[in-house]
Amino acid sequence: MTVVQARAWVEAIAAAIAEQADHLTQLDSAIGDADHGANLRRGFAAVLTALAGPESPTVGDVLVKTGTTLVASVGGASGPLYGSVFRAIGKPLTSHAIDGNQLLAGLRDGLTAIQRLGAAVPGDKTMVDAYAPAVAAFERELQAGGTLASAAARAADAAEDGMRATISLQARKGRASYLGARSIGHQDPGATSTALVFRTLATVMAAS
Ligand code: ADP
Ligand code: MG
Repeated sequence: MTVVQARAWVEAIAAAIAEQADHLTQLDSAIGDADHGANLRRGFAAVLTALAGPESPTVGDVLVKTGTTLVASVGGASGPLYGSVFRAIGKPLTSHAIDGNQLLAGLRDGLTAIQRLGAAVPGDKTMVDAYAPAVAAFERELQAGGTLASAAARAADAAEDGMRATISLQARKGRASYLGARSIGHQDPGATSTALVFRTLATVMAAS
């Protein structure tokens, strides 16, 4: 993944979030406060502005700038969470182009960051339910000899499976946990946006 592809990934996330904002907000209206789509749309619009300047020198720079902008521009739970995820993914990626194992290291650091901040484990009906299986699938595909692009495709599939599996879970973290058993039967908005993050990575890497 080059710095140009990293930027294309973030731009593709921004486009997918803008397109799916109403859907994300609808999901959040069922078990939250109906702002997830609006939160992320505002955040990624600010990210596009932040990235519009001179080209970033490294992959990590693009991703850290993305995270810093999200922290500054998005409230709620998802701003700090996505902000720290992107900052953590980008931090070790200090070169102009990275390979699959380097991205894996960043993605793992991203998972550590979400869990350090939000203390959610798989099964709590949060973005971790999409993110954790995605990282595991990415790693399995690399170990099986796959490329960064094929690992990203497996990760996207796993994130979407994890996203769908949140429907039957009871929320144990975040606003949805206040609903107790009434959160069962609804797909988690954060897991849904996380699946978009991995699907866009797969799409951008497949196109290049
Ligand atoms: P808020 O809940 O503050 O309104 P958003 O609606 O933007 O924030 O985001 C809600 C999403 O944040 C949830 O669907 C869930 O995936 C995620 N989330 C909430 N709390 C946590 C947590 N402690 N750890 C991981 N993800 C969380
Ligand atoms: Mg909300």
